[in-house]
Amino acid sequence: MSLALARKWRPKKFSELVGQDHVVRALTNALEQGRVHHAWLFTGTRGVGKTTLARIIAKALNCNAPKKSDPCGVCDSCVSIDRGRFVDVIELDAASNTQVDNMRDLLDTAAYKPTVGDYKIFIIDEVHMLSRSAFNAMLKTLEEPPEHVKFILATTDPQKVPVTVLSRCLQFNLKPIPVPIIEDQMKKILGEENIEFDSQGIELLSRYARGSLRDGLSLLDQSIAQGNGKVEEESVKSMLGVVDESLVQSLVEITLNQDADLLTQKINDIERMGASFAFVLDEMASLLQRLSLFSLTTQGLDERLIEGYQRLFDQTDDEHLQLLYQIVTIGKRDLLLAPDEKVGFTMTLLRMMAFLPDRGRDRKPQKNKEIANSIPTSKSPATQKVRTKVDTHAQVMIDLKTNADWKVFVSKKVPSGMAKMLAENSEFESFVEGVLRLSLDGDQKHLLVDRYKDKLRDLLREHIDAKCRLKIKVGAVSDTPLATEESEIKQRLDQTTRDLEEDPFVRSLKDDLGGKLVSESIRPNK
Ligand SMILES: [Zn+2]
Repeated sequence: MSLALARKWRPKKFSELVGQDHVVRALTNALEQGRVHHAWLFTGTRGVGKTTLARIIAKALNCNAPKKSDPCGVCDSCVSIDRGRFVDVIELDAASNTQVDNMRDLLDTAAYKPTVGDYKIFIIDEVHMLSRSAFNAMLKTLEEPPEHVKFILATTDPQKVPVTVLSRCLQFNLKPIPVPIIEDQMKKILGEENIEFDSQGIELLSRYARGSLRDGLSLLDQSIAQGNGKVEEESVKSMLGVVDESLVQSLVEITLNQDADLLTQKINDIERMGASFAFVLDEMASLLQRLSLFSLTTQGLDERLIEGYQRLFDQTDDEHLQLLYQIVTIGKRDLLLAPDEKVGFTMTLLRMMAFLPDRGRDRKPQKNKEIANSIPTSKSPATQKVRTKVDTHAQVMIDLKTNADWKVFVSKKVPSGMAKMLAENSEFESFVEGVLRLSLDGDQKHLLVDRYKDKLRDLLREHIDAKCRLKIKVGAVSDTPLATEESEIKQRLDQTTRDLEEDPFVRSLKDDLGGKLVSESIRPNK
């Protein structure tokens, strides 16, 4: 194959463009109805079809025999525009400086009528890179555009385009192309090219393309070359430095089991395989995301996955998954700062190990009734959810006599939101004859809004007294739920830090590897 796939299969008509249906529909409608704006701006990340679309429009406007809105693709105009040899279509890449220098001269030619075509079309890619003077030159033409001039601008960074220019353009946002669409397109191309492939290899490449068909096709080129003319999962994996889902699952499991020996072994395995640690982190993040979703729905998952997910999910919980996700994504971000990828990767996984889900911690030391009850007995996440719901409704009407009772009420019964902030900043005064009196911290008096107060009153009526009334005055406070919570968090944080410092594993990290505990990264165990 002499021609790269991305170039060979570059769409030449609207009907061939995939993944941008909304934009294509708007453009073809406008062209069919002859409502042709004088300046378009296409935004979107790399490789989603911005300049491809620009060229199709340029052809549609200058084609000698257009079919509805689509260019014919075979007339002299279409052919020479495709080859980049049509004098009236001027294509510029603002990212290359030499061309920007010519920008003014080129724009000066806008005043002259097109030589061969119906329209003189300026296609400017990465337009945000233009210099101020070039923008000014363009603006002059944009303000009073001659009938025969069209601008088609493209950028990955629309925020850097001056508002004066933006406001004169019809803007279209091109979206990253979804994985299944990239997959379909790759399969179609390979079919036409008579190249053997397996679906797993294609799926992997499509995911790795990250929404860019162009990147996807160039990966496809590489994998055809590496796989001796075939696209197969194994060769794709080794090319991308990808690892198995099972390895990713076992990494998460190892951190949950805090098995440092096994972890070291796995990390060495990954290194030996020549896999990319950055990619493994990406895969872990996406597994954690799927696990979080798994707690809500099992739709679209095959049996094989469900079993593995269930096993992992049983050892964690929603909140903990969120934390792990954060650790992994931050770890990925900071990988560049690490001495090398392996060190960064190891530290990220150790950090994951340092945090266990609440029930995981509680389960070992004490087994009193309350804790035993809080451990879901059912294996299914769906029933687990129902259980939680039942639990919150099990208790009715709490006694509210003291400031301590008030704090319990606020922490247990008031869901987060503005009403909770109002409650947390208020101290209990008295509760007499169905009237609850609170005093609100003067610094927080902006929270005294009827809506929040009503919400709080409704909660009181639900849990304390069906006829409860609420009076809040602004005044001095000394012991609000918030103050208590803050000091508790501080205490727990101190304790967690001490635990971590004393942890033999963390200690060996510090002593052997010169590791340091990043205090900002420590979150208290609840
Ligand atoms: Zn044509």
